Amino acid sequence: MGYSARGKRHRTHAVRIGNVVMGGDAPVRVQSMTNTDTADAAATARQVAELADAGSELVRITVDRPEAARAVPEIRERLDAMGYDVPLIGDFHYIGHTLLRDHPECAEALDKYRINPGNVGFREKQDRNFAMMIETAIRHGKAVRIGVNWGSLDQALLTRLMDENARSDNPRDTREIMHEAIVTSALESARRAEELGLAADRIVISAKVSEVQDLVACYRLLAERSSYALHLGLTEAGMGDAGIIVSTAGLAILLQEGIGDTIRVSLTPEPGHARTREVHVAQEILQSLGIRAFSPGIIACPGCGRTTSTRFQELARDIAQFVREKRPEWQACYPGFEELQIAVMGCIVNGPGESKHADIGISLPGTGEAPAAPVFIDGKKVTTLRGEDLAGQFRDLIEDYVARRWG
Ligand code: SF4
Repeated sequence: MGYSARGKRHRTHAVRIGNVVMGGDAPVRVQSMTNTDTADAAATARQVAELADAGSELVRITVDRPEAARAVPEIRERLDAMGYDVPLIGDFHYIGHTLLRDHPECAEALDKYRINPGNVGFREKQDRNFAMMIETAIRHGKAVRIGVNWGSLDQALLTRLMDENARSDNPRDTREIMHEAIVTSALESARRAEELGLAADRIVISAKVSEVQDLVACYRLLAERSSYALHLGLTEAGMGDAGIIVSTAGLAILLQEGIGDTIRVSLTPEPGHARTREVHVAQEILQSLGIRAFSPGIIACPGCGRTTSTRFQELARDIAQFVREKRPEWQACYPGFEELQIAVMGCIVNGPGESKHADIGISLPGTGEAPAAPVFIDGKKVTTLRGEDLAGQFRDLIEDYVARRWG
């Protein structure tokens, strides 16, 4: 297990979901969610496979109506036929209890059910519907995520806590009551699930909000008060750079404190862009914190007035692309390759120093320097590259290094 960045981790129950374990001593898992119509089994199976190829260790699919529930076994079969054993999680709202009751083959094909306690019905129906879903999970031996969302919080509970706060001698800030309501909803539901017979090591909790400070406050409370495995993520991170930054800010604080057993980065994909972006971002967050390694790290300086040509940016881009393309092959042949650190530096100021710290590094000539690029391997200068095809020569050296070290 990683976590070298923080040393200590919030202790949680280990939960088995299909062939994947999360929580306990397991690594922090990366997960994602499809955006296809689940009723279209072929398209959904294809996207699940794409997400799994990108590194998603669990994939959630919407199960919102009978057509979707009916398609779930076929999605599983298609994935099995393609050789993908990635666990499938069903996302249920409003009518999950009837879908699971009426489609036992769907209940069986899924590995985990996501239940939002704010969306299972009102008053006495809420408990009955919730119980139906938990009993189905017990019958089929499945895990459950109790996923509270700020946007669909149990309003009766919120009103109760607000009223209690108003009557208290030292009323707390409304935002704190909101956090309390989210956490209480999650923990009361989890305890109710345990009363119904679901084991604690079948329960995962999430408390989704859309602002970083709320996320941090809610998860700190959950970690203080329980040992359930925790799923981290903002509910609506947004699009592009803003979505990536807000997710990184929120998740990094909690992960650094040892909180979180699985993460999802809920990015809104830009039209025409791949859904897999959210998987790569989740991996980058874990890798940059030193919690897990997924692919070789590339250290590149930002460039400055000493790199006035585009040669340096082009080399950094070429090497990043080369590593991305090689990743599947290296994954199959060279276990451990993801620890590789490459440096691509723009000039003599920091180039040799950073290159010596990396496994393999190149220091390009900055403006006014002789047209030669020293290469360092394991801290020692091994050669100096010259000529037009620096990228090709450096790629060959990287390939040799990987084969020698992890072959
Ligand atoms: S290593 Fe050289 S080129 Fe890169 S940022 Fe530093 S001074 Fe500029």
